[in-house]
Amino acid sequence: MAIERTFSIIKPDAVAKNVIGEIVSRFEKNGLRIVASKMLQLTQEQAEGFYAEHKERGFFKDLVSFMTSGPVVVQVLEGENAVLKNRELMGATNPKEAAAGTIRADFAVSIDENAVHGSDAPESAAREIAYFFSANELCDRIR
Ligand code: GDP
Ligand code: MG
Repeated sequence: MAIERTFSIIKPDAVAKNVIGEIVSRFEKNGLRIVASKMLQLTQEQAEGFYAEHKERGFFKDLVSFMTSGPVVVQVLEGENAVLKNRELMGATNPKEAAAGTIRADFAVSIDENAVHGSDAPESAAREIAYFFSANELCDRIR
């Protein structure tokens, strides 16, 4: 299995709960390395652009409002099968349906405020990484 990169957001609810470290620790304990990381406050334009695929959905306005409600941590994670690995660690979109021991089961309370984002495929990972990071912000962690 080749080394892969995926994009992660620790969302405003998890930042507010002060569980950034606990979430990052799960990535690290499960073979994912952080190769880029920054905290930022998303603008409305940034959040709308990031979630453009959902713009026709009824929850879009609430989603953008939530994602701009406080700081987030955007990260690039690297490791074997990183996209799927991260989705497994995150758990289902609705925390009520998320498997025990997943990030969303442990730190999220509702589908609107569900602690983390993770890319759903290698193609979306590449697009999402480029949305937030320039090439020279991605560090070489192989050694
Ligand atoms: P994800 O890939 O597991 O994050 O889920 P999706 O790509 O389907 O949806 C993106 C984000 O939109 C989710 O993480 C939720 O924050 C939000 N979302 C999805 N479905 C709903 C919904 O039915 N209601 C609300 N309020 N938010 C939703
Ligand atoms: Mg998604």
